[in-house]
Amino acid sequence: MEAKKQIAFVEYFENEWLNSHNTWYENIQHFTPSTNDGLESFNKIIKDEDTYRERIPLSRFRIITFETVKQWSSQYKHKLKQYIQTPSITLDIWTKGYQWAKSDKSVISMNHGYTVEYYAPADDEFKISNNDIDTINTMKWNTFDQYRKRAFNVWYIKMQNDPTNWMKGICNCPAFFKCYVCKHVAGVSIRLKFCKPPPAAKDIPIGHKRKRG
Ligand SMILES: [Zn+2]
Repeated sequence: MEAKKQIAFVEYFENEWLNSHNTWYENIQHFTPSTNDGLESFNKIIKDEDTYRERIPLSRFRIITFETVKQWSSQYKHKLKQYIQTPSITLDIWTKGYQWAKSDKSVISMNHGYTVEYYAPADDEFKISNNDIDTINTMKWNTFDQYRKRAFNVWYIKMQNDPTNWMKGICNCPAFFKCYVCKHVAGVSIRLKFCKPPPAAKDIPIGHKRKRG
């Protein structure tokens, strides 16, 4: 009986989440929000600059909303407010990127002219094989254990073949999906001499972490 239930669940899961709705996971698309931080920061602005944290009736809120939107339009037009187009690289990311660049991790690259793809070993691994890359690309696993071990042991980094555009590089690690930049993009760029980390990034001995705060 139990086994039947499990098979039914596996079939349901496969149909629903692998076949019908198969684009639910973060890795499917770059540059989409992974958190609602952006939305919350807009809420904060509305409360700080427009409603002053007062609970107001819907009718008045509607009027304020129209005024707010008008004001924002003008502020963006006159560059008093700006959309950030490039991610900011914190000292923490520089430090991790520099340490990654100086590590013995070997990377497999594939040059496509305009872009170059890099496959890098994740976690404590230093090497990957072409077989590891094939496994990741085909996403075929025989057991759950195999998936657990192999799905996250290779990061995929794609860079433009142009030093000035190194910040347009992408990576499929979780940090990149959150911050639009990560130690791999910074690290590969440092190795390629596309960019230089700030001197402070080199203050931390290799293998050590920067303290929080
Ligand atoms: Zn990364």
